[in-house]
Amino acid sequence: MRLRNVKSAFDTIHTYDAVVENPQDYKGRWREFFGNDNPIYIEIGMGKGRFLMEHAMNNPDINYIGFEKFTVVLVKALERYQRQGHELTNLKVIRIFAEHMLDIFEENEVDRVYLNFSDPWPKDRHYKRRLTYRGFLEKYRHVMKPEGCVIFKTDNDPLFDFSLEEIEAAGMNIDKVTRDLHNSDYLDGNVMTEYEAKFHKQGKNINMVEASF
Ligand code: SAM
Repeated sequence: MRLRNVKSAFDTIHTYDAVVENPQDYKGRWREFFGNDNPIYIEIGMGKGRFLMEHAMNNPDINYIGFEKFTVVLVKALERYQRQGHELTNLKVIRIFAEHMLDIFEENEVDRVYLNFSDPWPKDRHYKRRLTYRGFLEKYRHVMKPEGCVIFKTDNDPLFDFSLEEIEAAGMNIDKVTRDLHNSDYLDGNVMTEYEAKFHKQGKNINMVEASF
């Protein structure tokens, strides 16, 4: 990434309405923030934002919040949202590490967590950084409504195996699971992410699990 692009992203991120600058201020008050009682779905590691944008356009009665740790990546998503030309009042983004999510949400505030093509952290010693590690699942449980769910998609088979073990260890119920989403009964309504489109085009199987607490 060129340094000029990085500087420009840091300079411009504040100019986009979709960015929530002080998300801690809304802890326990997200429904007030959105001005409605609609469900709140979050995507952790939203990347360039295609998935969230399509969901937000198709589902105006759901509020979406994207987490992304890298400013440069987030600005790419914001540029995309601006290009599509409609003001999406039900889509907000936060530049944050998922590790800090308990600073942002109170218990029972979130209805769904999407994890799409999360970084695999393949080295054994880094397993606690994987977003499906039980420590993260506990954080999701803390902020989620009892009827909420986590939906995880990945091309990475070892990460998927690890994630199923963590889901079981966390005492979650597996409601849907497939090792080949695009040739399964669960494809209906699926919204592709950037990574998913790339891997699917290469013929890679896409794993998906939906689990609840
Ligand atoms: N979800 C998108 C997709 O499917 O196309 C992007 C996938 S990309 C492999 C993973 C994204 O998650 C990257 O943009 C990365 O910066 C972000 N990410 C990784 N770990 C994160 C964390 N702990 N908190 C917030 N974002 C994170």
